[in-house]
Amino acid sequence: MRTVDQALSEILEVVRPLPPCRVPINDALGRFLAADVLSDVDSPPFDKALMDGYAIRASDVDGDTAAELAVVAEVSAGMVGTRAVGAGEAVRLMTGAPMPDGADAVVPVELTQFDAATETVRMNRARPVVAGANLMKRAASMRKGETVLAAGREIRPQELGALAEIGYCDVPCRPVPRVGVLATGDELVEVGETPGPGQIRNSNETMLVAQIRRAGGEPQPLGIARDNRDDLRAKINTGLQYDMLLLSGGVSAGKLDLVPSELAAAGVRPLFHKVRVKPGKPIWFGVLDRSEDGDSRRCYVFGLPGNPVSSMVCFELFARTALRSLMGDPQPSPPLQKGRLAETFECSGERATYFPCRWERTETGSTIRLIDWRGSADLRSAIDADGLAVFPIGEQHFASGSVIEMIPW
Ligand code: AMP
Ligand code: MG
Repeated sequence: MRTVDQALSEILEVVRPLPPCRVPINDALGRFLAADVLSDVDSPPFDKALMDGYAIRASDVDGDTAAELAVVAEVSAGMVGTRAVGAGEAVRLMTGAPMPDGADAVVPVELTQFDAATETVRMNRARPVVAGANLMKRAASMRKGETVLAAGREIRPQELGALAEIGYCDVPCRPVPRVGVLATGDELVEVGETPGPGQIRNSNETMLVAQIRRAGGEPQPLGIARDNRDDLRAKINTGLQYDMLLLSGGVSAGKLDLVPSELAAAGVRPLFHKVRVKPGKPIWFGVLDRSEDGDSRRCYVFGLPGNPVSSMVCFELFARTALRSLMGDPQPSPPLQKGRLAETFECSGERATYFPCRWERTETGSTIRLIDWRGSADLRSAIDADGLAVFPIGEQHFASGSVIEMIPW
């Protein structure tokens, strides 16, 4: 049976990012760039005033005397000044205005006194002004032709601002993966129904839909498939048209656990079944390759165990990794944080254990506190957790105070 690390490597090896596309800039948040992005402008496009004030020659304000300069013109942002600044002269500027020729510094208006009668400005504080003060030189931020953002970069608000600055109305990135969610089980009823004897509500679909969305995918809920081959087959076939398909339940060793055999019958190539992980041991993973109008398309399929916390954990470990790889995330594996274990933990060491925990951050560091949890069917307790404490395979005793890793939610 595979370890978690082996299963993750296998997923990373097989999953290819979706082919690049272009999307309108306002739809690109959270995606990953699929190409290097070059600037088509210098930024700033000219030497630019950073303060409201006066463009002057620094050598005119040497600090010995309170300089008095003739104000010969005014330039605001968006205007282009024509009058150069000569010796003993100043041009009144607004923030963002281009520097006039001849000037090499800006004196903020707060440090000056204007005399309307003589059209002169006095530098209040007789102190030296250095050349380059309060202005930004042309192309100091970026140069035309320069690579501003490299392929693979996550697109956050600041990347979007930079893309807008360099005119990318459409952004080269990866599509949002569409992920089918199919719950299986004769015992399941819709969330809006009252369960009869032996029945429970289909809570996994809701949770998986939310997990997909949180991870950046587009969920496609497919309802409930009953534990018979015909129903399962039909709904699996619908689900296989998406980039990924997640099934919940029906992957263990029970008589009605038909998912692995039906997936194989649908042509999905099995890559692994069962991982040394707790909770979530029965997880199944495979790939369907199809060609459609000459296009080769793939669907990555996960059979997640039915118990709600197993389903949730297996999504965060395995399905999320595949989803983020499809999106082009260069770091698709579960994110890890470190902290000190608040209490002693014992386990068999036969499987890696992922235990719902609270991650408490204080001034002295972070603490990982395990919640009072009754196992994979106990979702109620797990809602108090904000992450999963990681207890690697092979170890049985984890001392209180030892540093361990956790996956934050
Ligand atoms: P299974 O893997 O199909 O044997 O299911 C394992 C356990 O998870 C059973 O107790 C199921 O009732 C429960 N379960 C399966 N599917 C769901 C679901 N969609 N929502 C909530 N619980 C489920
Ligand atoms: Mg079942």
